[in-house]
Amino acid sequence: MSKPYDLVIKGGRVVDPTQDLDSPNDVAVRGGKIARVARNIPASDARNVLDASGKVVTPGLIDLHTHVFANVGPYGIEPDPYCVHRGVTTVVDAGTSGALTFAAFRRWVISKAQTRIRALLHVVSIGMVAGSTPHMGELEDLRYCVPSMAVKAAQENRDLVVGFKIRFSEQYTGPNDYEGMKRARAAADDAGLPLMIHIGGSYTPLPKLLALMKKGDVVTHTFNSHPHGIVDEHGRVLPQVWAARERGVLFDVGHGAGSFSFGIMEKCLRQNFLPDTISSDLYTANLHGPVYDLPTTLSKFLLLGMSLPEVVRRATANASRVFDFGADIGTLKPGAEADVSVFDLVRGRFTFTDSDGATRVGDQRLVPVATVRAGITLHSVEPENRSLERTP
Ligand SMILES: [Zn+2]
Repeated sequence: MSKPYDLVIKGGRVVDPTQDLDSPNDVAVRGGKIARVARNIPASDARNVLDASGKVVTPGLIDLHTHVFANVGPYGIEPDPYCVHRGVTTVVDAGTSGALTFAAFRRWVISKAQTRIRALLHVVSIGMVAGSTPHMGELEDLRYCVPSMAVKAAQENRDLVVGFKIRFSEQYTGPNDYEGMKRARAAADDAGLPLMIHIGGSYTPLPKLLALMKKGDVVTHTFNSHPHGIVDEHGRVLPQVWAARERGVLFDVGHGAGSFSFGIMEKCLRQNFLPDTISSDLYTANLHGPVYDLPTTLSKFLLLGMSLPEVVRRATANASRVFDFGADIGTLKPGAEADVSVFDLVRGRFTFTDSDGATRVGDQRLVPVATVRAGITLHSVEPENRSLERTP
């Protein structure tokens, strides 16, 4: 007796901004692709059923800023326990590897992971093998920043490399950030790929760096509270930031251990300057707080007043368009990859902490329950030594 579907995810609240969907629906999967989204698809039509009643069902989340080059340097985390098992089916590694280390990243991490991993290659050839103090920041010696090497490595790995990354905080650059920006610009233009820049505490004022950003490039750590940020001393979003958005530069969250401030975010929301994409910047130093995972970062935007579909949009539909992933993701339209996330939207009182230690209390939290990646169901587990920050 053959059944039309491999899997049906039944009874959930399906939130898919690409189809303006926020309603009870079932999602059917066949051959690793989304086959159908409709009400009341019979359980008997599928070989497996995932009960999603009372849950939220979304396209598999896409995290545009992570560090998953594990065991090389101080940043990388194991991707699968913290990504695909936490509702995130696709991640972009933001510059942990460079031209000199990408081959190892490809062989030992990307090719073995269940999480779909794409990479932004650091324009600096050594990538992020060290932090800064007591070591040297990667852009403090410009001899490591050779655009032609980055371009060659990107071209040789076009299936996985989706763009370039560079970090502009003074501890990683010394006075070299503007020269680094020019070299990054040259690499991106040569390869025809987008560039992501990390901001916050740069040596050079942000407007001068932003002036070299083009349509499709990405600013990450947008809402940090460090000097040379996106707001002036009165908290107003800089005119050069609005101008960059106007010409198509994208603004990403990249929460991280030091790069997301509730205070700055609230000021920006009041001026209607919303992030284009919401990413976690998950790495070793924030895995146990304040970031934990992407769903926790998304929950912070719920408490800031954004609706669930608008939050989900920024980690699915919007994120899928930023880079060329070589796969139809971020949507539950029939024919797309069968990447699906199932969450509990848990009600309660939860204290959330930003990168500066400031807290806000929210009344809901997205908690991953299961993930379907290319049609295979993975049940979420809370990683060891972690507990939700539930406030009594
Ligand atoms: Zn980062």
